Amino acid sequence: MYTQEQIDKINLSLKTPEDALRWAYDTFGDKIAKASSFGPEDSVVTDMIIKVNPKARFFTLDTGRLNQETYDVMDAISKKYKINFEVMFPDTTQVEQMVRTKGINLFYDSVDNRKLCCEIRKVRPLNKILSTLDAWVTGLRKDQNENRSKAAMVEIDKLHGGIVKINPIIDWSWDQVLSYIKEKNLPYNKLLDQGYPSIGCEPCTRAIKPGEDLRAGRWWWESDTHKECGLHMDHKT
Ligand code: SF4
Repeated sequence: MYTQEQIDKINLSLKTPEDALRWAYDTFGDKIAKASSFGPEDSVVTDMIIKVNPKARFFTLDTGRLNQETYDVMDAISKKYKINFEVMFPDTTQVEQMVRTKGINLFYDSVDNRKLCCEIRKVRPLNKILSTLDAWVTGLRKDQNENRSKAAMVEIDKLHGGIVKINPIIDWSWDQVLSYIKEKNLPYNKLLDQGYPSIGCEPCTRAIKPGEDLRAGRWWWESDTHKECGLHMDHKT
């Protein structure tokens, strides 16, 4: 367990994403894993991690409602880097019960229903794997939305028992992400070419129009204040 003072000092000593990843993998060994939802940021951070630790662990949450393009890039990344993704699925009994009582497309009916679906399909599987780890790595960036604007490169994840959360590209811009993918010719989610900068579940994500916020396509029928699925809510203002 780290104190906030210790984390502040660590952040001051880390200048680049690679610094953060080297520190993280040296410190946490096999008790750290990268969470991937196969968005563009995940392509970048995955490439960085493999250079620091080719045997690093990666996990993903398969909600059962993902796009085929997401499975395709998972397969491409898995083959390129020889990654055996730890795929976390929701509890089938809980999904069956939810669908039976609320309907298959319950998320469109109310914010509460949408949060229930995210809770069962994403939050609980995430909690399950994080309870076995000392640290995790994300592809979060500050300018993705207001909730993430206060995040640091290394932080204490109070939502998940005080384990450490590493956000190596937290200060990167969207253009930096795109440039890195292009320069290194990385596999990326083809939904990006169809106007999807933020990747989520198929029924809850749409393409954005020019000039729209990068996360405008997520849960587009809700107001901005609700737009997190509960995986990274500790920065909510
Ligand atoms: S994003 Fe939509 S489909 Fe996916 S878990 Fe949340 S509510 Fe359910």
